[in-house]
Amino acid sequence: MSQIDSPNVIPPFASPLPARVPKSEFVAGRLSLAFCNTVALPDAADRLGDAAALMGWADRAGFKAFAPPAPDVFTGLLEVREILRVIFTALATGRAPDAAALDRLAALAPPLHLSWNDAENRAEPQPQDLDPLGSLRDAIVRDAIALLTGPDVIRIKQCPAEDCRWFFFDTSKNGKRRWCAMSDCGVKAKVNRYRGRHMAAF
Ligand SMILES: [Zn+2]
Repeated sequence: MSQIDSPNVIPPFASPLPARVPKSEFVAGRLSLAFCNTVALPDAADRLGDAAALMGWADRAGFKAFAPPAPDVFTGLLEVREILRVIFTALATGRAPDAAALDRLAALAPPLHLSWNDAENRAEPQPQDLDPLGSLRDAIVRDAIALLTGPDVIRIKQCPAEDCRWFFFDTSKNGKRRWCAMSDCGVKAKVNRYRGRHMAAF
């Protein structure tokens, strides 16, 4: 099981997460989408608000940093998130992504170096940046580009709950998954519908 699939684990040094986020922070199923979800509604709290929070998130995503990020690495990651949010928001609402945002993303694409993994019988990209947070940035950019250039762009979704709007990758067979997490926003919507009907009866 990869870190992306694993349940939310809060490390001791991370900033507390907003109470409105009971689901796994990696419920999106793709690194680049999960990274965008680090700005959470309804308060738009930035869960990468400081270096410790970023290091905590990176660790949980499988990129353990042993030193705080240099200022340019930190702002570089936030810039990637801003570009991706513009692109993914457009796609999730049925619009073509902004050309300038695509150019900015392409300019951040790391050079690709491959090595052969015998056990997995496939090639895999090798991190070129020795800094774990630089590797994280490269992995996010690479994941986003793979997503955008592949056949699954239509599976990039955004949760319709007004107090959520998390991005997620729809892996359902029919491509009709609606909520980021059925156990969270899906259940809340059901409860609200039930309450609405119940109230209407009086
Ligand atoms: Zn949701």
